[in-house]
Amino acid sequence: MTYDTENIFAKILRGEIACDKVYEDEFALAFHDINPQAPVHILVIPKGAYISMADFTARAPADLIAGFFRAVGQVARDNGLEAPGYRILANAGDDAHQEVPHLHIHIFGGKRLGPMLTA
Ligand code: AMP
Repeated sequence: MTYDTENIFAKILRGEIACDKVYEDEFALAFHDINPQAPVHILVIPKGAYISMADFTARAPADLIAGFFRAVGQVARDNGLEAPGYRILANAGDDAHQEVPHLHIHIFGGKRLGPMLTA
């Protein structure tokens, strides 16, 4: 599978489409999900053309991998989620219903989230 440079998160990274940004550094961009599934629902994406976690961890340089995961933790802390708790999730591929083919980690929080999976 090749990376689709016209996917919506690629356009957000290029500044062609606006987002409700909550965090940005040289490795990652985080913004509010447009269709939130929890009181806090933030997406964190790496700066680079990566489809999924498998793609990212196979091809990305080590500093980007480290920086991306640091950004996920930073965003959780900055949004007050560390103490009450939160959930991270990354969909990959059809079975997981990945809609946007650019790696993104969902951060959910702000309420008791219940059981881990809903089918
Ligand atoms: P996934 O099913 O894991 O690929 O999730 C894609 C997520 O991207 C969904 O939760 C959408 O609501 C969200 N989304 C799609 N377009 C945008 C956008 N322009 N800005 C913010 N979130 C978006």
